[in-house]
Amino acid sequence: MNFDRIPLSRRNLLKAAGLSALATTGVACSQKPSQPDEPLGIINDQGEHVLPWSNWSGNQSCQPNRRWVPRNEEELIQGLRNSQHNIRMVGAGHSFSALVPTDQTLLSLARLRGVEQIDHDNHQVTVWGGTRLSTLGQALWQHNMSLINMSDIDSQSYSGAIATSTHGTGKHLGSMSTHAQQLRIISAQGEIIECSQSHHKDIFQAAGNHLGALGVISQATIRTEPAYYLREHSWMMSEEEGLARAEELRDAHRHYEMFALPNSKYMLGITIDKIDASDIPADYQEPAGDAYEAFRMMSNMIDYMPFARSWLVNYGASTVKPETRYGQSNDIFGNVRDIRFNEMEYVVPADVGPACLREILDTIKKQRLPIIFPIEARYVQADDIWLSPFYQRDGFAISCHNFHDKDYKRYFAAIEPIFWKYDGRPHWGKIHSLKANEMAARYDRFSDFKRVRNELDPHGRFLNEHLKVLFGIA
Ligand SMILES: Cc1cc2nc3c(=O)[nH]c(=O)nc-3n(C[C@H](O)[C@H](O)[C@H](O)COP(=O)(O)OP(=O)(O)OC[C@H]3O[C@@H](n4cnc5c(N)ncnc54)[C@H](O)[C@@H]3O)c2cc1C
Repeated sequence: MNFDRIPLSRRNLLKAAGLSALATTGVACSQKPSQPDEPLGIINDQGEHVLPWSNWSGNQSCQPNRRWVPRNEEELIQGLRNSQHNIRMVGAGHSFSALVPTDQTLLSLARLRGVEQIDHDNHQVTVWGGTRLSTLGQALWQHNMSLINMSDIDSQSYSGAIATSTHGTGKHLGSMSTHAQQLRIISAQGEIIECSQSHHKDIFQAAGNHLGALGVISQATIRTEPAYYLREHSWMMSEEEGLARAEELRDAHRHYEMFALPNSKYMLGITIDKIDASDIPADYQEPAGDAYEAFRMMSNMIDYMPFARSWLVNYGASTVKPETRYGQSNDIFGNVRDIRFNEMEYVVPADVGPACLREILDTIKKQRLPIIFPIEARYVQADDIWLSPFYQRDGFAISCHNFHDKDYKRYFAAIEPIFWKYDGRPHWGKIHSLKANEMAARYDRFSDFKRVRNELDPHGRFLNEHLKVLFGIA
């Protein structure tokens, strides 16, 4: 087995790990037996054929009674005014928690997308709610602008991303919601509400992490920066070094994150910094990054020799080479995730982050949990958004994953109490087991959010079962 030439980066690591999972489960090597065709979906009262829905990883699904994709904002407003149906909004379906599922109307703003207005003087852009981050990044670049920070993928819709305080990493950088300047919400009664720090401030502070519970976010005005390039550098270090240097590396770079390799003694460090276009080497080529064969072999061997798991992961990690990528901000942030996984993420106070991560890694080893999927850890600046996991607290976000076709329940059940011990707040879009009382204990403004929600949607048209549990509504 030769790992010597694995070009390892965050992207390649996750991609390769995912491919290894396919190999482990045999999916990559064999075809599914053919199934008889089954009718998909339902025919509703209006005689429309309605397809079922499922999220990106496949752990959430539903059969709506209707799918609604308004052609324009006027149709959206009239539709809300003229019907009393219960509705759930869907963006890109990239949440792992049950925020979206409904057996009633599933509303998508897929046709309300794109840039509506650019304000060069103030570095602001107004976009439609259904705009995907990938489209937004490209459109901004053409206007010499970049998003201030981003998540590690760009598939989400803008309204969906801010529903859950979607974030990237950076000591002095808040979640994507903190860059919103103004939001336009269409209420359950079809009323248009423009909110910002100076207008309907309460609604604005609730809407920065809205969970799709306040109304339909049809437009957002976002703060941007002049377009910038980035250099991303990744390298493997020991777990001890990674934990010990976390704060030093966080302070020294615009962005710093770590990927700990469970059941090994290694950790991948990734720094990202702004550069001038002239800093990109003339002969630079995007690293090729096909670690498929090596990880497939490793994973296959682990299947046959589970007792050798740590040895194999350690050996593979010890042979990887450092890697540097250069590019436009949107390209460096927007990694490709063409493997599927399920995820739990909690945000603990920044100063106890490394200790919490250490306890998770030790627990995986002690309990012999068969996990090889990297654990991502990022620093995010505090904000004042009511339901943000970063509310008035600098945060250290720890994301634990397992392959979409492997059991995650035992793993997540083992580590969730560790997050609680460190006063963690869950990412609302990822898997957690908390209910209303536990949320109220973690969020000082939880009852304020419920009050605003009740004012905007008194009949609960935007609630589903998951939200009722979260808000303690019978
Ligand atoms: C591969 C992958 C990588 C990820 N990386 C990150 C990361 O780096 N950082 C991070 O923080 N999170 C990350 N996430 C989580 C993801 O960013 C969030 O779950 C996000 O909320 C998903 O956005 P979406 O557009 O897919 O919305 P959906 O998941 O479809 O919906 C999310 C919520 O938004 C609501 N909603 C959607 N559109 C509207 C609208 N127009 N009006 C009102 N409500 C609406 C929905 O009702 C729902 O409540 C990742 C997820 C995946 C699958």
